[in-house]
Amino acid sequence: MTVQGVSPVVNTLFGAPIDPSTASFVVAGVPFDETSTYRKGSKQGPAAIRTASQMIESFCLDEQNNVDAAHLPIADIGDITFEPHTVQSMLRAVESVVGQIAQEEKIPILLGGEHTLTLAAVRALPRDIVLLQFDAHMDLRDRFNDQEFSHASVQRRIVEQLGPDHLIQIGIRAVSKEEFDYAQEHKITYYSCNDIRKEGAATIARRINDAIPPGPPLYISIDMDVLDPAYAPAVGNPEAGGLTTSELLTILRVVTPRAMIFDITEVTPQYDQGITAIAAARIITTFLCIQAKRFQKVL
Ligand code: MN
Ligand code: MN
Repeated sequence: MTVQGVSPVVNTLFGAPIDPSTASFVVAGVPFDETSTYRKGSKQGPAAIRTASQMIESFCLDEQNNVDAAHLPIADIGDITFEPHTVQSMLRAVESVVGQIAQEEKIPILLGGEHTLTLAAVRALPRDIVLLQFDAHMDLRDRFNDQEFSHASVQRRIVEQLGPDHLIQIGIRAVSKEEFDYAQEHKITYYSCNDIRKEGAATIARRINDAIPPGPPLYISIDMDVLDPAYAPAVGNPEAGGLTTSELLTILRVVTPRAMIFDITEVTPQYDQGITAIAAARIITTFLCIQAKRFQKVL
């Protein structure tokens, strides 16, 4: 298998090979942050997460299944290429690459870059998919800075495409009145950070699992600003009062087994000393170790 529209990188996730032919998980970076308005820099995110992944332990003690994520059948095909460097061109390129990976029944792992890339990936996937969005923000604005396609409006475009019952938002704590009204009107399911703090991550994880209809595959999309800035200071739009890494992992453990695609976005590495990229690498490692159960036959 050859994926068109990517440029290989030297430092891959976990040092994985670049050839996706025998891989079950295919990693691709999306170095794009053009619609970011506050703290740009997430185009450096893919490289920072890859570097961090090589520095942490990839064995998952807590998953208790004796799996080392770095020994799973992973390929890192490099960064998705697009010209010109515009949001429309990025969206087309990401849709194409995700389509090629998913067609081979491999699990795409996307490293952002800004959160806008999720729309492109959704366009490449079956329409019955349910998106679990971990985020401080709803990203439900109709327009932001006159832009229809931006990281502040990406979930609005996805709801328009899939319908409101295909989106579940987790960790929400920073919304505009416009977004709140839209979410109410369209009956979008969301769990605020406050809900998680009050009821506990394990209880909320069960409620999320119960809210997901049986059958359709899941898309797990992580905007790193879902974490408190204490745990993930280097993001484009930090918001105080967020989840701990541990709370996020508790919820991930419950929902990950059904996921067919994963992305992690909004790491802006120049705003810290590597803390946020290390947390992102740990989250990806946990996702992979849990997903390993699906591929035990190839281990
Ligand atoms: Mn956000
Ligand atoms: Mn977001």
